[in-house]
Amino acid sequence: MKLSFRNRIAWFSGIAAAMTIGLVFLALYGVVYWTAYRHLDSDIIQEKREVMRSIQWRSDTLFIGDMTEWKEEEHQEIEVNPTFLQVIGLDGRVLFRSANLQDDTLHDQPFLLANQYVNSLIGIKRIRQGHFPVLDPAGEMVGQLIIGISREESAIILDNLRQVLLVSFPLMLLILFVATSIAAAKGIAPVQHLIHSARTIGEADFHSRLPLPENRDELYQLAMTINALLHRIERGVQREKQFTSDASHEIRTPLTAIRGTLEVLLRKQRDRDYYEEKVRGVIHEVDRIQNMLDQLLQLARLEHGSVPTNVRAIDLVHFLRDLRSDWTDRLQERRMQMTMDLPAAVQVHTDPTLLTLILDNLISNAWKYGREGGKIVLSWHADHRQLVVSDDGPGIGATHAAQVFERFYRLDDSRSSSVPGAGLGLSIARKLAEVLGLGLHLVSAEGEGTSFILDFQDRG
Ligand code: ATP
Ligand code: MG
Repeated sequence: MKLSFRNRIAWFSGIAAAMTIGLVFLALYGVVYWTAYRHLDSDIIQEKREVMRSIQWRSDTLFIGDMTEWKEEEHQEIEVNPTFLQVIGLDGRVLFRSANLQDDTLHDQPFLLANQYVNSLIGIKRIRQGHFPVLDPAGEMVGQLIIGISREESAIILDNLRQVLLVSFPLMLLILFVATSIAAAKGIAPVQHLIHSARTIGEADFHSRLPLPENRDELYQLAMTINALLHRIERGVQREKQFTSDASHEIRTPLTAIRGTLEVLLRKQRDRDYYEEKVRGVIHEVDRIQNMLDQLLQLARLEHGSVPTNVRAIDLVHFLRDLRSDWTDRLQERRMQMTMDLPAAVQVHTDPTLLTLILDNLISNAWKYGREGGKIVLSWHADHRQLVVSDDGPGIGATHAAQVFERFYRLDDSRSSSVPGAGLGLSIARKLAEVLGLGLHLVSAEGEGTSFILDFQDRG
């Protein structure tokens, strides 16, 4: 059975209410029943005390000594509050019975021997019977006294009560079901409003947001969460668009240059040196494109999380010394120095190949953008477990600090200079750092050099 959410709420609360009401009704009926019959039973006990006194014993025979109790009106008449008395022997024979029993007998219940009460009938009259043992002077049981009193009044009250409860039970359920349906419909109206609003948001319409409900309840949080999701999707889509347009622009620029050069070469015959120079230029542009495509591929792999890592303990001091020797020639080209401010030994747990890629990117920036003849320093801050790559170049102003990690972002100076680069190095470095669980931040001020901080805090 497929129920709507609203009807499901009404259905489940209906079942819960039915069970609760049913239990309450049962308890109510039980209490009234118990009270009514306890009352009758105590009347029977009262009667038993009086009647027992009249039963006497002579030699082997049981007889009624004092007949006044048996002659009382209540044991004679059947109209007014009758009380029926009957004594039976062990063999079940009726020894005595009160006059109001006329031809009837109180039903003997052999299993009810001692002080037991039971509902029974005389003709169509409903009675309550009490059964008590009659003992001889030696304490041996010789018979049974049965006292019956009318339970007509209690039975009528209980019958009426049962009928009222049986009729009102389904009626109450019906009322409850309707009430909970209405309440549920009202309760989920804001949800339907949200659904309606969400439907109006088109496929490519990431600007729209869901209206927030007035009450700051769970629905408000749901709408907020969906809006935050829409916001993230919108930013993601924008980033993708930007990325596609940046990437095609970056690739088109060298391609246009190549095409222009080739057209110039085709126009007329040139001497060999001219050709060589132009072809070298074309090779340089092709290298640029290739380099950029490699970087884009690396970024794509990093973004799809398909970069395997091989984390192990490495001695950072040795590792950095090796790295520096790889840079010796290029440093000399720009008359730069690379110094190291490291303790005797530092151990870190990381993937050395990926760490080399990160540091190569940072050092290549310091080398490209740093001062000619300037200094690059690699230092280890033991307190915070940070590796810092700093240079004494032009620095990066606060306005650019966050953006340099974005894809294709380059400062205007770098873009207009002849310094090669696509603006991808730092975004790759940050992604690699993320893969290794390291933080990568920038501390810089314009004109005061740049420091990139690689944070090993959590990685040991
Ligand atoms: P790529 O690394 O892809 O070859 P790139 O070096 O231009 O190109 P990023 O490494 O991402 O790209 O750097 C982005 C920009 O940040 C650079 O273009 C430059 O403007 C600026 N920048 C980065 N490092 C430094 C630095 N040490 N000093 C000054 N500016 C820097
Ligand atoms: Mg770079």
